[in-house]
Amino acid sequence: MATGRIDTIAAVATATGKGGVGVVRISGPAAWAIAQAICSKPPAVRAIQYCNFVDEKCVAIDSGIALFFRAPHSFTGEDVLELQGHGGPVIVQMLLQRVLELNGMLDNSNSGQLIRMAGPGEFTQRAFLNDKLDLAQAEAVADLIDAQTEQAARLANRSLQGVFSKQIHELLEQMIRLRMLVEATLDFPEEEIDFLKASDAQGQLRSIDHSLATILSKAKQGALLRNGLNIVLAGAPNVGKSSLLNALAGTDVAIVTPIAGTTRDKVVQAINVQGIALNIIDTAGLRSTDDTVEKIGIERTWSEVERADVVLHLQAVDIADDPVLLEKIQARLRAVNVRHTPVLSIINKVDLAANSQARIEGNQVFLSASKFEGLELLRAKLLEIVGWQSGGDDMILARERQLIALRAAHAHVQVAQQHAALGNAQLDVMAEELRLAQSQLSEITGEFTADDLLGEIFSRFCIGK
Ligand code: GDP
Repeated sequence: MATGRIDTIAAVATATGKGGVGVVRISGPAAWAIAQAICSKPPAVRAIQYCNFVDEKCVAIDSGIALFFRAPHSFTGEDVLELQGHGGPVIVQMLLQRVLELNGMLDNSNSGQLIRMAGPGEFTQRAFLNDKLDLAQAEAVADLIDAQTEQAARLANRSLQGVFSKQIHELLEQMIRLRMLVEATLDFPEEEIDFLKASDAQGQLRSIDHSLATILSKAKQGALLRNGLNIVLAGAPNVGKSSLLNALAGTDVAIVTPIAGTTRDKVVQAINVQGIALNIIDTAGLRSTDDTVEKIGIERTWSEVERADVVLHLQAVDIADDPVLLEKIQARLRAVNVRHTPVLSIINKVDLAANSQARIEGNQVFLSASKFEGLELLRAKLLEIVGWQSGGDDMILARERQLIALRAAHAHVQVAQQHAALGNAQLDVMAEELRLAQSQLSEITGEFTADDLLGEIFSRFCIGK
């Protein structure tokens, strides 16, 4: 619970523009007094009241429904008033203005408390600070509002209901139990009974590791659904990069010409495969050149490659690669691949080859971009290499911050396991690794989260939420 002066905040909670209903939401200690000042018939606690919303001369500004929730039984955990009037952009602003005009005019104003406009996400932030939601649930509120697909909305709602938080809490409990055991053993080293053996500490660690790995994999799936994949097409000029982009997108987004060096800047096209957004990025062809503009384009290609989730290295059966250049490209791609970015080799223009069959051989996809052959194989291969399993409704719509914390916690648990295997001499390291894993997980639910991070998370919400 926040301490000190608590302002009363107000905002229009419905989207801007015309609508059937417009809602002004008010939260804080002055909410009750505001209801008395504005509603011709103020609502009772948790009761719906139809009334006029009036100005300082008791002239009706609008009419509608007023609802009042007494703290702590409200979304924010504070007194909350909702005024539901007509959904016109002017009328809701007039109503909000009327609420804000009451600043300094009500009984509570002599305690220095203000009535002011809410900042972005401030209602949800108060709900979090008042323990109505944990941080993962609060973030799910924004995700639900931002959801672009039905599946994303369903997953966000699961997190909002606390499914993700519950999994994290269960893991935290397991970790705390094990830490207590390890620390007790550290405190009583002369104890005859080997606590750790008796309680199967290694088995407990394995089980934590397994649960964490399962959550991480569900979170990675969800992150794929949320963020999509950045796929970069790289290769020499004229191998068919633009043609492949167009074929995958089904439109002429990139200029296709037989003149080398046409695509000098990147072209991005988002396509949707099984609900996943694939952002396909066509880049300037990689070749040795003296042209300054083209050189810049080629450097950009490499920076796109560095940022990619997957790189498609294109070659074509009719283009004899310059062996020196090819070796250079392949060496650089190998370096990218070592950093866990999958690189898929595409052999294009298979229609011109003796074996013109579109096919996959190991990590090579043979296709024809201009004849639209092998595109399905490529799409399926892309989903396979990023580990997409469609249809899982138990995915977690994870944010980058949550994924980072899960990965870090998993890494600490794995180090803890290595030390556990070495016996009691390593117990202090194991205890420390468990502590670090626990603090990573606690950041997900917001038990230990820096104020500036909270500020950043909530500032991305819309006003009125
Ligand atoms: P980029 O420079 O790598 O982007 O290559 P483009 O997509 O501009 O293609 C270069 C040339 O190859 C164009 O004339 C295309 O029509 C041709 N081309 C692209 N894909 C194929 C293919 O699958 N088969 C054949 N026969 N020609 C292709």
